Amino acid sequence: MKVVREIMETMEYGPSPEGDQKVRAWLDSHGRKFGVFIDGEWREPGDTRFPAVNPATEEVLAEITESRKVDVDDAVRAAASAFPSWSAAPGPVRARYLYALARQLQKRARFFAVLESMDNGKPIRETRDFDVPMAVRWLYHHAGWAQIVGDEYPDLAPVGVVGQIIPWNFPLLMLAWKVAPALAAGNTVVLKPAEQTSLTALAFAELCQKVGLPAGVVNIVTGGGQVGEHIVDHPEIAKLAFTGSTEVGRLIRKRTAGSGKRLTLELGGKSPFIVFDDADLDSAIEGVVNGIWFNQGEVCCAGSRLLVQESIAERFLERLRLRMERLRVGDPLDKGIDIGAVIDGTQLERVNRLVEQGESEGASRWQPPCPLPDRGFYYPPTLFTDVSPAATIAQEEIFGPVLVSYSFRTPAEAVQLANNTRYGLAASVWTENINLALDVAAKIKAGTVWINNTNAFDAAVGFGGYRESGFGREGGIEGLREYLAPAWEKGASAPAAGASPLQETENFSADPNESPEAGSETGSGSGSGTETDSGLDTGSDLGSEPPFPLPIDRTAKMYIGGKQVRPDSGYAREIVDPAGRLIGEVGDGNRKDIRNAVEAAHKAASWGEASAHHRAQVLYYIAENLSARMDEFAARIDTLTGCGRSEAEREVEAAIQRLFTYAAWADKYDGHVHRTALTRHATLAMPEPIGVIGIVCPHQLPLLGFVSLVAPAIAMGNTVVVVPSEPHALAATDLYQVLDTSDVPGGVVNIVTGDGIALGRVLAEHDDVDSVWYFGEPEGRAVVEEASAGNMKRTWVDYAAGRDWYAPGQGEGRTFLWEATQIKNIWIPYGE
Ligand code: NDP
Repeated sequence: MKVVREIMETMEYGPSPEGDQKVRAWLDSHGRKFGVFIDGEWREPGDTRFPAVNPATEEVLAEITESRKVDVDDAVRAAASAFPSWSAAPGPVRARYLYALARQLQKRARFFAVLESMDNGKPIRETRDFDVPMAVRWLYHHAGWAQIVGDEYPDLAPVGVVGQIIPWNFPLLMLAWKVAPALAAGNTVVLKPAEQTSLTALAFAELCQKVGLPAGVVNIVTGGGQVGEHIVDHPEIAKLAFTGSTEVGRLIRKRTAGSGKRLTLELGGKSPFIVFDDADLDSAIEGVVNGIWFNQGEVCCAGSRLLVQESIAERFLERLRLRMERLRVGDPLDKGIDIGAVIDGTQLERVNRLVEQGESEGASRWQPPCPLPDRGFYYPPTLFTDVSPAATIAQEEIFGPVLVSYSFRTPAEAVQLANNTRYGLAASVWTENINLALDVAAKIKAGTVWINNTNAFDAAVGFGGYRESGFGREGGIEGLREYLAPAWEKGASAPAAGASPLQETENFSADPNESPEAGSETGSGSGSGTETDSGLDTGSDLGSEPPFPLPIDRTAKMYIGGKQVRPDSGYAREIVDPAGRLIGEVGDGNRKDIRNAVEAAHKAASWGEASAHHRAQVLYYIAENLSARMDEFAARIDTLTGCGRSEAEREVEAAIQRLFTYAAWADKYDGHVHRTALTRHATLAMPEPIGVIGIVCPHQLPLLGFVSLVAPAIAMGNTVVVVPSEPHALAATDLYQVLDTSDVPGGVVNIVTGDGIALGRVLAEHDDVDSVWYFGEPEGRAVVEEASAGNMKRTWVDYAAGRDWYAPGQGEGRTFLWEATQIKNIWIPYGE
């Protein structure tokens, strides 16, 4: 007779199907045809439709409307007219609606779980236990934010109409991630679900009707990428939130360049899953299963690269293969199924193609014996070994149930391999050694690091990427902040694009006979001499009174790596006073100067690891030294701008105060420990420096503008490459000595003078610059945003008109610190 254990081991799973009658009845009640949801009502716009296909069976579930441009226009118009009253509604009123939506969704949880499973092909086990409960949690959490946001952030305001474009992998959840914070903050929404998965968004629109959400607050337009493009291009959209491929994210970045639209992009990933030899291997194996086979691997943060320490690699992979043999692939509505269908034939083809490429590049594929249904788009769980870290399958996002693995020897090598990707969305680290875990977590470039767990999410915790995984966060205060803007910026009109008073002197230093002003600054382009240029007759008509007590016959060099160096171009630019009289020259910086400065800034990266206390001390020291040279700087500013001595003194005083402010902030801009719905987790939200920030300064208030941007950036541990205001560059170049005498390590602040737009472009194009802040001439805004699409770096381009650099809310404060940092969330479970 068989013992129970034998029976358990040999017993076949029986089917455990979830009923789909309610969903079919709902589809029938709509005649299996859906319009779009605009201004609180259903519309039947054009007659172009496309099928909603169940990927598990290839059955057509319904016909969906392909929206036209005119429909998107209508939706945006409806959202714009709903915005004034929705944004002005008291927070508790908005909270009630979000709360009601949460309740409605919760009450219909099983219906949504079945509908999502049928529309997407993912297992009911996951929609029932993850997608829908998490969407509900998101709505509740943000109902709370709606309640308190006005009191918590009185200086911030909603941005306006938000365009939201979501993918097919978590259709309802991505909708909740986007709609909930937007509404909580007081914005109105036009959302486009992915073509493959519109049904839960349409069912959600019915909930909006049911709870009486005011017309136009949420609008849902269905259709393909072109509908997305109409949203992206619409001039009345104030902000775009996109989740999807890096390729389309890059297109959107380029398309919106110069438009002033705010942007958050949550893009692809190739996340490392690192197992050290002291890890709890049973847990780690289950972690891998969750990391890569959850949702068929169609997860942007899937742990798709397994890195195992060499000493346990063989044993670990053996156990993993055994576990893979037990994974069940099949009908997603069967409650005993682990892996459902991938989204469609195109995606299946992509997975097949990449797997074949993996084999042709020399990796070994392993798949367990695994029966697949005859119909539908299924792919078995797959493990690749003998993978080179540079192989296509180790670098490309496969977005399917395919795991690639390789081994490492030391923690340093693990970090190096983990960061060997253009992405930076998430990572998972497995070890019983908390010191090692936190050390590695800090070194990995990713927005989320899970320690001894994976794929944990919560509405209270921000989620989003570093590098080409995009920018911005979704969830918690980090995500809510993306839907708010400083209140003073609202309604400000763009400043007129004024001509720069700068005069270019392209041939200036080539021939001293032609340009006597050049003096000893002749010829040699790329030298890095340190001699002082002196004894020049400027040749300019300076009048009988010298306008400025400082020597005027000196061409200020660049400041790179803590040294004064000549510009590579060998050219200089004249700086004139408001009457057009020459008062000095600065070097004309070019691509090479920026490249050298970026290299120097990277070499100074240890600045970010120095204690915040130390950085504060350096900032105090700069302030003291600037204060000691108050008269000299005031005179310089007066000469450059003609603002008058007392205004100039006011500016220097404000710059000194600003340095004190950021010295104060350096050790006070803390992160959070989030309270998640998961118990026994400490989730640390740590503001990290972004890295190397390129800064193009404004023309107004040349010293205060410069200090207001550089001080918060370096206070937070970044290193900077700064392009000072072109016409007033001498105010910045005078700072070299102040920096030299204030213990600022070489390379922390690098100054390259020249054309703000041209140098802004070079900074934006540079792959080793992590963010660009552009406050220069309006014509440069589009240039910088478009050029930044190369490595999808974050940009902060100032579209606010009439910024008052003296006003604390406008010229300093948390917005600056927020732009100077990115949040890494580290999930740390605890308990035995
Ligand atoms: P896309 O990035 O194309 O789609 C995401 C969303 O953007 C969809 O709603 C899509 O509409 C829309 N869209 C497509 N083109 C444009 C455009 N030019 N302007 C505005 N919106 C647009 O992803 P795919 O669905 O095509 O998937 C392709 C690959 O992207 C996958 O194989 C996977 O590797 C990756 N991916 C990554 C995701 C992530 O979360 N990181 C999510 C989804 C995919 P529609 O689908 O209706 O055409």
